[in-house]
Amino acid sequence: MIDFTPTEETRLLVKGLRSFIEREIRPLEEQYRQYFEDERKRLQEDGSLVPEVKAVIDRARRRSGELGYYGMHMPEEAGGGGVNRVGLFFAQREVWRHGLGLNAYLLAGPEGPSPMLLHLNETQREKYLYPLVKGEMTTCFSLTEPEAGSDIKNLKTTAEKHGDYYILNGLKTFITNAAHADFAQAFAVTDPKLYKESGYSGVTAFIVDRQTPGYKVGRINRSILDDGGQAELIFENCKIPKENLIGEEHMGFYVAMSWIGVGRLNIAGMCVGLGEYLLKESVEYATQRTAFGKPIAKYQHIRGMLAESAAELYACEQMVLNCAWRSDQGEQIIKESAMVKYFATNILYRLADRAVQIHGGMGVMKELPIERVFKLARVLRIVEGTDEIQKETIAKSLGL
Ligand SMILES: Cc1cc2nc3c(=O)[nH]c(=O)nc-3n(C[C@H](O)[C@H](O)[C@H](O)COP(=O)(O)OP(=O)(O)OC[C@H]3O[C@@H](n4cnc5c(N)ncnc54)[C@H](O)[C@@H]3O)c2cc1C
Repeated sequence: MIDFTPTEETRLLVKGLRSFIEREIRPLEEQYRQYFEDERKRLQEDGSLVPEVKAVIDRARRRSGELGYYGMHMPEEAGGGGVNRVGLFFAQREVWRHGLGLNAYLLAGPEGPSPMLLHLNETQREKYLYPLVKGEMTTCFSLTEPEAGSDIKNLKTTAEKHGDYYILNGLKTFITNAAHADFAQAFAVTDPKLYKESGYSGVTAFIVDRQTPGYKVGRINRSILDDGGQAELIFENCKIPKENLIGEEHMGFYVAMSWIGVGRLNIAGMCVGLGEYLLKESVEYATQRTAFGKPIAKYQHIRGMLAESAAELYACEQMVLNCAWRSDQGEQIIKESAMVKYFATNILYRLADRAVQIHGGMGVMKELPIERVFKLARVLRIVEGTDEIQKETIAKSLGL
């Protein structure tokens, strides 16, 4: 029988996280939010974050690393907490239900350690993986290119082999944390013929140090989140030693799959926490705000929206937990993680839309975090595989 009751260990983990957020992150958030009042305070001319904001983010991430939260999902042999998928779900829900901007830096995302890096040898682990797990360094997952987003069969970045090293050339775009990463995890075509024939093999994943000659941060991609989070990466004749391969040559996409399935489930867990935040804020607002002489929570339209959000959130939570549990049992969750990512991000988007509606004009004002969560919810339907790509994966599992 499936039992999702959190274990004593998970309960303690969640309790510790909550107290860490209240004690250390909430005061930091106050500093962080000041920069969001005015875009000119937050972003430099090129669109990247000003060093002061970066320092606040680094502090939040490092403290989470010191306390062992940041890399909790990584195995103990890699310096992580060895927390299973169900435990991680409860931690994600706890982190995101506070609705703080800094929450994005408390548990590792694309800028942190992922199972993909377990393919590294011990020397590389010491240099790259262990500092990442502690939150002392950051990375970026560099796959997308101007002509290859959903269509990963159209990569143009190449890495030519010359004896013991490779020469990397190409342009990546929309890469989260590209402007600040200490190193990139970059995907490049190493066997064009194999790649053309198979569309999957023939691509290799590399570690590319920021100091490598020819490594350049390009244009900052300015998104609706306006947080300087994404940028282009340019590789011009970067000389990469063969020790910097992640996993086997030509097998980069297989290596990446160990991250992508997990990444989809992570986003779904995040959606449940954000959904809880939106529902709580909406209920509170509807109870306090009066119109035509009574709290708006008394009106059937508003009650209906809140009831729909509560029911959908419940379904979403059970679905994510079930998928996390299956993953913990060692099941392949390719179909399920696609379903969960599609469902959870769309539910969150609906909840965010209702939260904006319930808050009226205040819902779209920057004074409240609701508009920020609404924009984030929209973005989540695109990253880590769009709605349509998830539906394609699900359709394939139906034999279509
Ligand atoms: C905020 C943000 C952060 C990101 N971070 C990273 C990162 O860290 N690393 C990284 O590598 N990338 C990152 N990306 C890129 C992201 O993964 C891509 O934007 C995403 O995969 C979609 O690719 P695209 O933008 O090229 O859109 P396209 O692939 O051009 O898609 C356009 C539209 O066509 C649809 N479409 C495409 N193919 C099909 C199909 N076969 N069937 C039906 N519909 C289809 C899509 O669903 C979409 O609606 C990020 C993007 C954003 C917005």
